[in-house]
Amino acid sequence: MDCFSYRNGELYAEETRVRDIAESAGTPCYIYSRATLEEHYDRLQAAFKPIDPLICYSVKSCSNLGVLRVLAARGAGMDAVSGGELYRAKLAGVPMSKCVYAGVGKSDDEITGAIQDGLGLFNCESEEEFENIASIAKKLRATVRVALRINPDVDPQTHRYTATGKKETKFGVDLERARRFFATYGRDPHATLEGLHLHIGSPIYTVDPYREAMTKTVDLVAALASDGMAIRSIDLGGGFGADYESAQSPPLQEYAAAILPLAKPLYDRGVRFILEPGRTIAGNAGILVLRVLYTKTSGEKRFVICDAGMNALLRPSHYGSFHFIWPVEPGSAMTPARRTLDPKLPGTTTHDVVGPLCESGDFLALDRVLPASIKRGDLLAVFTAGAYGMSMASRYNSSPLPAEVLVSRDHAEIVRRREDFQTLVEHELKPIALQLAPSATTELPR
Ligand SMILES: *Cc1c(COP(=O)(O)O)cnc(C)c1O
Repeated sequence: MDCFSYRNGELYAEETRVRDIAESAGTPCYIYSRATLEEHYDRLQAAFKPIDPLICYSVKSCSNLGVLRVLAARGAGMDAVSGGELYRAKLAGVPMSKCVYAGVGKSDDEITGAIQDGLGLFNCESEEEFENIASIAKKLRATVRVALRINPDVDPQTHRYTATGKKETKFGVDLERARRFFATYGRDPHATLEGLHLHIGSPIYTVDPYREAMTKTVDLVAALASDGMAIRSIDLGGGFGADYESAQSPPLQEYAAAILPLAKPLYDRGVRFILEPGRTIAGNAGILVLRVLYTKTSGEKRFVICDAGMNALLRPSHYGSFHFIWPVEPGSAMTPARRTLDPKLPGTTTHDVVGPLCESGDFLALDRVLPASIKRGDLLAVFTAGAYGMSMASRYNSSPLPAEVLVSRDHAEIVRRREDFQTLVEHELKPIALQLAPSATTELPR
C-alpha cells in the first residue's frame, strides 16, 4: 500500500500535489510519505504481535534522517551495517540500546565507537570478527552482547546480489560451524554470545524460505541447548517484499503465519525476537520525480531522456529491477488502474526511459509502455523508489545528489537539500600534503 494516488488525472503524495513539490524543490527529487512509513511499521508490528518483536528498521534501505525520525517516533530500533548508519540512528534520536549492528567488515574504529555508544547487539559474522569485538571490549573494560549471524543455506529465490543466506556467501557462518562457534566463544567474559541472527536475502516474495530458515534455526537452538548454551534473542532479518507492481507482495500476515508457529514456542520460553525490515517499510513510501528533458527516436526506438537516471536510482541497471513509471499529470483518461508492466491503456507505446549519463547502462526502464504523448518538460514519477533509491545514489558524471522531501498530509518539507556544484568539489578544493613516514620517502633503491 502507499499514499501516492492519482486524483483527477494528477498525482498526489498524501494531500499534496506532486507537481507543486517538484516545482518548489526542483527535480530530480525523492518524495517520501510519512503516513505510508507509519502504516507499514504498524502493520508489521500488528502481524507479529504474538512474539512482540523489536522492529529494527534497516537504515541502509533509506537512511534519510527525516525518515529515521518518523520511525524512531513510532518506537523503532535500527539495524545498521556501518558506523555511518549508527551515527545516523543516534542523530535521529534512536536509543543505541535499540540498535543492532551487522556487516562482514566492521572496522576497529567502528566497533570501538559502537561499544562506547552502548550498542544493543552486535550481529557478528565470523570467528575473527568475534575475537576482535571481544578484545576491543576487553580493552574498553566493557561487556557487549553478541548474536551470531548464521547462514541457514536456504534459497530465497531472488537476485543473486541480494541472496545472502546460501551456503557459499560471505555472510554469517554455516550451521555446522555455528555449534563449534558457540563451544569456542560461548563463555567469553567481555562479549556475551547470546543470540542468533539471520538475514536470508531480499526481496523475498514467498514465505517458504522464511519457514525453512526458521525451522533450521529452531533445530539449532535445541542443539545449542543440549550443549548447554541458552539463546536469548533471535533476529530474523528483513527481506519482506514491497509492491513494485500492484499487490506483488504477500500481505505481512502471510509471512507472520509462516514464522509464528515456529517462533511462538521460543518466545514463550523467553526468547526475544528482532526484525530488520527495510524495503517493506520504505519501498512504497517513496517516489522519485524526474523531468523529461528530451524525447528522441533512434532507429525504431523511442527514448525519454530524463534529468536523472542510474545516478539517482541504480536498481534498474544494477539488479534489472522493475519500477513502475508514469507521468505526474497524465490526465484522467490516462490514469492507470494498476501499476504494472503493461497498463493496457489506449494511446500508449513503448519507450526506453533513460538518464543523461554517458553510458548505455544508464536507464530506468527498457521497452516500457508509457503514454505516447510524453513530451519535453513533463514530470515523471518512478514508484516504489523509497528503498535502495537515494541510499544507493551516486554523483557519477558530477551529478549533484537529488533533494529529498517528506510529506505529511498537506505539509511538505525538504529533508535533504539538493546538492550544488560547490558540494561536489568541497573536499577537493585544497590539496593537503600528507605527512609520510620517512621510510616511505627516503631510502629509495638507486
Ligand atoms: C539489507 C538488510 C536488511 C533489510 O533488507 P530489506 O530487504 O530491505 O528488508 C536487513 N538485515 C540486514 C542484515 C541487511 O543487510
